[in-house]
Amino acid sequence: MIRATETFNHSVIVFSKNYLPISRINIRRAIVLLVTDKAEPVYFLAEVACVVRSPSVVIQVPAHIRLKISSAERVWKVPSVSRREVLRRDKHQCQYCGSRKKLTIDHVIPLSKGGKHSWENVVIACEPCNSRKGDRKPSEAGMLLTTQPKAPIHPAIAFAEQFWHQRQPEFVNSKVEI
Ligand SMILES: [Zn+2]
Repeated sequence: MIRATETFNHSVIVFSKNYLPISRINIRRAIVLLVTDKAEPVYFLAEVACVVRSPSVVIQVPAHIRLKISSAERVWKVPSVSRREVLRRDKHQCQYCGSRKKLTIDHVIPLSKGGKHSWENVVIACEPCNSRKGDRKPSEAGMLLTTQPKAPIHPAIAFAEQFWHQRQPEFVNSKVEI
């Protein structure tokens, strides 16, 4: 019986069969995947997430594992432009000033000036920024977008990009009693 301790909060990165980092799971799930032979350790980064010990067994849980099975092929399409999806993409923040209050949808190039209701032309803007901008392009209103709006990308690709971008040493060599 593995005793649950706070060390079980450490997480393991899961790579797909094709070595694409796809998600972060907890140690407990990682052990299950390893024990049931659905995943194998990835040693190229040679990091250990935690060590699980009993009098007879020592299991080193690697910080990275790779699925041996193909993960269920999930059909993913670019979502259509909706308030909910735009809020999610823009992290519930005004793309002009960063405010999180009174959020509205802004068409960067106003619809009246030929702008489209597309991922590339909508951003979240707070009410004050939206009314200050009015029926103008950001440049005409002297305003700057903090990001270039674009369509959301596949969640696994987004995770992979974030993983490689933010990668820092996560070496945790803790012990868990069995
Ligand atoms: Zn704003």
